[in-house]
Amino acid sequence: MTINEKNYAYGASKSSIREIAAYGAARKAQIGAENVFDFSLGNPSIPSPDAVRESIERSLQLPPTQLHSYTPAAGLPFVREKLAASLCRRYGENTAAAGDLYLTCGAAASLSISFHAVVNPGDEVIVIAPYFPEYRVWIETAGATCVEVMADPETFQIDTEAVRAAVTPRTKAVVINSPNNPVGSVYSAQNLAALADVLHEREDALGTAIYLVADEPYREISYGVEVPWVPAIYDRTLVCYSYSKSLSLPGERIGWVLVPPTNPDHDRLVPAIAGAGRSLGFVCAPALFQRVIADCCDVPSDVDAYARNREALTRGLSELGYHYIEPQGAFYLWVKALEPDANAFFERAKSLELLPVPSDSFGCTGWVRIGYCVSYETIVNSMPAWKKLAESYK
Ligand code: PLP
Repeated sequence: MTINEKNYAYGASKSSIREIAAYGAARKAQIGAENVFDFSLGNPSIPSPDAVRESIERSLQLPPTQLHSYTPAAGLPFVREKLAASLCRRYGENTAAAGDLYLTCGAAASLSISFHAVVNPGDEVIVIAPYFPEYRVWIETAGATCVEVMADPETFQIDTEAVRAAVTPRTKAVVINSPNNPVGSVYSAQNLAALADVLHEREDALGTAIYLVADEPYREISYGVEVPWVPAIYDRTLVCYSYSKSLSLPGERIGWVLVPPTNPDHDRLVPAIAGAGRSLGFVCAPALFQRVIADCCDVPSDVDAYARNREALTRGLSELGYHYIEPQGAFYLWVKALEPDANAFFERAKSLELLPVPSDSFGCTGWVRIGYCVSYETIVNSMPAWKKLAESYK
């Protein structure tokens, strides 16, 4: 039987992050949940705001045929109006109109729709390593090649000169993710402006158009630093957003793609986004949760709980002598492994019931990611194990 070998391989090969999480769950069943420190997943640990439940309860009063029916492919018009108005309040008057927004099943769908909307077979899409591993799957499925460019190894900001060197006549897009998974960095306005200069210079020299795909599920989760609005810095931007992290709704699958009105290709991109959603078979975003985000798009995320975890984790690990990148956003800490081989370091951590994710999963060696979207107690109670791990290298 001949089947699609590429999709067979995607399905048959295991995601190492999921494998660690599955190991963690099995180990908890064996020795007790309180004895395993699982930092592998990016599943929000704080509950959704009360406003989410209230919104759902209000929607349940609607006639079921109205509530559960198909919506227009791009989403309910009143929802898109509300989201656009919210974006204009936050980022300036002409940030978005309802017609510029296409509602999706979360950032995963926003990204794969965006790639399908812009790439042709043989194109290249640049990702900044370390990067969210699913980018490669979505880029390749859209028919393009995924080109990795390492971030600056000291600051983990974008190495704009390395991007310049990687751009070819086939480069169709660059994906950036800020606040960043896995590093926790936030790209500064200056860094993004330097990237914009490089892309414009390359577009002019090569006579091509290069899109910036801004993957922003962590936009609301930052710790006292500004998260610059990318379309204000680079014109050919597409913004991919999701409520998975900001409202703790990862299982409900709701987000959007924005084609900013300032994008010079706006009028062709809007139908291309709709066409990509159609060709991928999305039909429409979940109807109930379209209504929820209309009600809750201005409800603040509970960043304080993550800030408390971040503080306990960074204080504890720095006292033990670990080197890490100061996290400015998201809920991940990027920690230098105590030996060059991150997988070997992970195995040693695992023997002490600590489960971070080795950096090889994100396209880079020598680090681990600690997801601190866990309970505060998990962080505090894990410290003796982190201490033992550090001591084992002395
Ligand atoms: N992009 C990044 C960087 C992520 O970390 C995630 C999820 O963890 C996604 C995209 C996908 O998010 P969603 O749940 O909205 O599809």
